[in-house]
Amino acid sequence: MRYFPLFLDLRGRTVVIVGGGTIAERKLDLVREAGPRLVVVAPHVTPRLARLAANGALEHRARAFEPADLDGARFVIAATDDRDVNRTVADAAEARGIPANVVDDLELATAILPAVVDRSPIVVAISTQGTTPALARHVRERVESLVDESFGRLAAFCERWRGTIKARVADLGARRRLYDELLRGPVAELVRRRREPEADALLADALDCADQDARVALRPRGSVVLVGAGPGDPGLLTLNALRALQSADVVLHDRLVSAEILRLARREAELVEVGKSGDKSRGHSVTQTRIHELLIEHARAGRRVVRLKGGDPFVFGRGGEELEALRAAGIEFEVVPGVTAALACGAYAGIPLTHREHSGSLRIVTAHCRESIDATDWKGLADARETLAVYMGVALLGTLTRELIRHGRSPATPIALIENGSRPDQRVFVGTLREAEALASRERIGSPALLVVGDVATCATRLHWFGAPPVGAAAPVGVPARSAA
Ligand code: SAH
Repeated sequence: MRYFPLFLDLRGRTVVIVGGGTIAERKLDLVREAGPRLVVVAPHVTPRLARLAANGALEHRARAFEPADLDGARFVIAATDDRDVNRTVADAAEARGIPANVVDDLELATAILPAVVDRSPIVVAISTQGTTPALARHVRERVESLVDESFGRLAAFCERWRGTIKARVADLGARRRLYDELLRGPVAELVRRRREPEADALLADALDCADQDARVALRPRGSVVLVGAGPGDPGLLTLNALRALQSADVVLHDRLVSAEILRLARREAELVEVGKSGDKSRGHSVTQTRIHELLIEHARAGRRVVRLKGGDPFVFGRGGEELEALRAAGIEFEVVPGVTAALACGAYAGIPLTHREHSGSLRIVTAHCRESIDATDWKGLADARETLAVYMGVALLGTLTRELIRHGRSPATPIALIENGSRPDQRVFVGTLREAEALASRERIGSPALLVVGDVATCATRLHWFGAPPVGAAAPVGVPARSAA
């Protein structure tokens, strides 16, 4: 380690920045967060720095640097593009014993500015010791996703309780154990979920009990996070989904969830496929009731369970049923939404789901078995100005399209079939309602696939950008088949 990491109190102390360009501006923005008195020495400055000077946010000395500028300074940043000037600054700093950051010059610099993740009061500073700043930024992005803003609130919570805990738990070892449990267990969970009053009550009760009892209440309990994994592309996971995966003890996942996403789970996490592919033809290896039992068993054993579902857990995902079962069993849960197939397939196939000219609304529907086909409100689906996103529709495509046509949707209505949306093997087919079934069997379209019905489907021909271009044009390029619809 060449540079020793250190946090400096700069409040009200003088920081001198030599140079008035955009780099100086950037450095200034960094240190400004710490509330120093700022002095900028440069013959010319950017308009923004000039404005800050005019507002009194900094003192601008509009001339060349003089060593005396550093008298009384706590820290200096040399941000000019003139190495001789930077060297003069570094020498003057050295003579006064002031650390100097010299932009892009490790030889002259005695201090370097880290990449910072600010979750005040928690601050993480990252450095590659000046060698590869881009890598430091990369690491910062990782840390940012793991140390979310809830850590700031957690730190504030601990700060608020510190005095009480110290008074109540005198023994240092016991106190350390208490903090360990507090940060891993239900108290921290409650704070993360913005339920501070409950966290306060839990901790207050625990501190009122005898030592041993106190710890039982605070000990980590199992809980379930119902997570939407999106359609397949790991880039479509939310940060919350990633965090849940990275702190999971066990992941119960559907078959629909892609292998790349499962690889993002914590390495020690147990992965259990509960095999609901969302497609009857592939068979359900685990019943819904058994899934409920598994969720409850794992959570009761004190594990952090992630229930990972394709797309969004609340869109044809039976997420609601699973939460009902958990609530009945008294198990804590949270929900992380995911990008549902309709949105993802639309985006990755170049099909806007609503469009000022072609479609004023979107309906998300499914017809995956006889009973649901029979119960479908076909009249409601026949509106030519509405886009339909049909989930689990491929197996019964023939019935589906015939019913739509019988109830008044034009046979010439454009459709698109998107197989494996957002995945490397995505395939998109465009055609008309009339030919959809033949198209699907000719092209052997498999699961998962989404059917989009409506004029917007023709946009795929012009707006595709991902994977192979769509196969089969419903209408001449540039002209949606409106007149036919
Ligand atoms: N909860 C999921 C849907 C589960 S139902 C979601 O919100 O997306 C399963 C159906 O979703 C599949 O039959 C298919 O119609 C659709 N689907 C899911 N992922 C898909 C993908 N990557 N490409 C195309 N369709 C997909």
